[in-house]
Amino acid sequence: MFDSVLIANRGEIACRVIRTARRLGMRTIAVHSEADANALFVAMADEAHLIGPAPASESYLVIDRILDVARRTGAACIHPGYGFLSERAEFAEACEAAGIVFVGPPASAIRAMGLKDAAKALAAQAGVPVVPGYHGNRQDPDFLRQKAYEIGYPVLIKAVAGGGGKGMRRVEKAAEFEAALESAQREAQNAFGDPRVLVEKYILSPRHIEIQVFADKHGNVVHLFERDCSLQRRHQKVIEEAPAPGMTEEMRDAMGKAAVEAARAVGYVGAGTVEFIADGREGLRPDRFYFMEMNTRLQVEHPVTESITGLDLVELQFRVAAGEPLTFRQDDMRIDGHAVEARLYAEDPESGFLPSTGKLWALRFPDQTNGLRIDTGVREGDEVTPFYDPMIAKVIAHGATREEALDRLSEALGATVVAGPRTNAAFLKALCEAAEFRNGAFDTGFIDRNLALLGAVPQPLDAEAARLGAFMLLHDEWRRLDSLQASLTFDEGRTSPWAARDGFQLGPPRRHGLLALVEGQRREMVVTWQGTEPEIAFEGGSSTLSAVQSSENGCEFARTDAGVIVIRNGRQTRVEPYDPFAVDLEHMDEGGLVKAPMHGKLVAVFVKPGDKVEKGQRLAIVEAMKMEHALLAPNDGEVTEVAAQAGAQVAEGARLIVIGAAGANGE
Ligand code: ADP
Repeated sequence: MFDSVLIANRGEIACRVIRTARRLGMRTIAVHSEADANALFVAMADEAHLIGPAPASESYLVIDRILDVARRTGAACIHPGYGFLSERAEFAEACEAAGIVFVGPPASAIRAMGLKDAAKALAAQAGVPVVPGYHGNRQDPDFLRQKAYEIGYPVLIKAVAGGGGKGMRRVEKAAEFEAALESAQREAQNAFGDPRVLVEKYILSPRHIEIQVFADKHGNVVHLFERDCSLQRRHQKVIEEAPAPGMTEEMRDAMGKAAVEAARAVGYVGAGTVEFIADGREGLRPDRFYFMEMNTRLQVEHPVTESITGLDLVELQFRVAAGEPLTFRQDDMRIDGHAVEARLYAEDPESGFLPSTGKLWALRFPDQTNGLRIDTGVREGDEVTPFYDPMIAKVIAHGATREEALDRLSEALGATVVAGPRTNAAFLKALCEAAEFRNGAFDTGFIDRNLALLGAVPQPLDAEAARLGAFMLLHDEWRRLDSLQASLTFDEGRTSPWAARDGFQLGPPRRHGLLALVEGQRREMVVTWQGTEPEIAFEGGSSTLSAVQSSENGCEFARTDAGVIVIRNGRQTRVEPYDPFAVDLEHMDEGGLVKAPMHGKLVAVFVKPGDKVEKGQRLAIVEAMKMEHALLAPNDGEVTEVAAQAGAQVAEGARLIVIGAAGANGE
């Protein structure tokens, strides 16, 4: 076995690989970008080396820098994880040339499966069923439209170099073909630098079912059963499970054999996944599944397979890469129970699943006992940045039956607390509980058809959460005043609306208004005192102090630097004190320093060193979450420094522009 490994990846998968490598006695070497200097995987590894700035194209994707660290540290092998360089044949070759083992398939296998058209041709040659369609070289619109007609609508246009659902268009009828083709080609050109597409039959009631394969260097190839990844959004997986609901022994056998044949056809070694699309109109049938592509790496959803087989796939990857033969045969493998994985993302289902960034003010998971597993790459207090995939964790539940696994997953999602970035926790929980999904009556269109049912539409403000949050703030203020009072002889603070705790009297209830920022909006609440029990009324309802103090209010509270986040039913409500006199001084440093107010892209810079500017003048524009924010000059003066260029990704707080005070140079 290897004595050391360099992990050419980050986040959750880097942590996952480190865990197994350490158990196998290896020295673990992390490489990281500037943005990840304090990341969990960096802290976990035995050693960590900086390889560049935040953008992956300048760090995690730079082969030379990674190999340089590998050489300097004497790494015996490199594990690429998934994404980044994991499916780049040049990387596998460069490792080999440097005398370092690449934990993955040979470069030739990566290359053979790299383009969808060539991979399909190969699969077809190996006798594996492929989706009927045109996978050839001709790309002129008239010809392709003719092919689409022959295939029969609906058809799917797919980028040959595709991945991540990009460059893919479903076309319902001939009249729409040309426009769809054009936009697919444009997207493919932008994303992959290759506009070529293929056209294939759109399979109806499609189920995405993939087979995990494993091959050693001695000619043994086995499959580790299927995973059903049909719950998707925009062709991206959301929930994965194994075994597939409705799978028969006959179909599993047929799919397993086809996957093994595809792997053999390219001389595969290591962990791989053969993805199929199955026509689910009449349940799963052995003559209705088709090869889509082969992923020549470990998959995000591999823990599902680990749960039902008891194997550690990363360990197997290392053993195979070290030349050991597989110690089991196909007939030795059994499926144990059922496993389901949910991908917990920092995104907002209520606003079109926009990625959400920021500090994780609270992050708590249930215990990893009783068939529950959490794979994460972040800790409480960490930042979710816009630079990488916003996955927070994978929550994996195993049970004797599908019902049990789904119940366990749903419960775990309900007990997961995330405060700060928005998450899809409530959406995932609703999915686990959706009746049709439970009954196994679903296909890849299930999520899109049921967005409202799943809560993935704009929701009204959670007024109860806002009221409870306001109580938390009142409570903080009282505590602060009590300690103030102990040290001061006067009581100025009592004039603050937050401090009006003067209800200790009999007689009619007392009322006063309370201003708060709820979800960033100025809102007015009314505090009423009945004896010593305060009550807050807001949005037609009211809550008492006892409700906040009760452990049965179903809420979790997380403090932020500005106020409190109330988490209720998986949704977050921010409540902050409203200060009418507050001015945003944060980005107006006295030194004339203009910082990026948030993570984003610097889309324009209007000044250059030497320019004279006036206070309030527009200096630059940062784009974040598809919105533009103007940065204004904090004072009159001269631009002494422009620290970033238009087009650059900037991190929150990054130094962008410095304005010297007028006359600072002794004028
Ligand atoms: P990518 O590599 O971009 O992820 P894939 O070829 O893996 O693209 O397809 C992604 C998803 O698109 C599949 O999981 C499936 O849901 C859907 N899909 C792909 N091909 C077809 C098809 N012929 N008919 C119906 N759905 C398809």
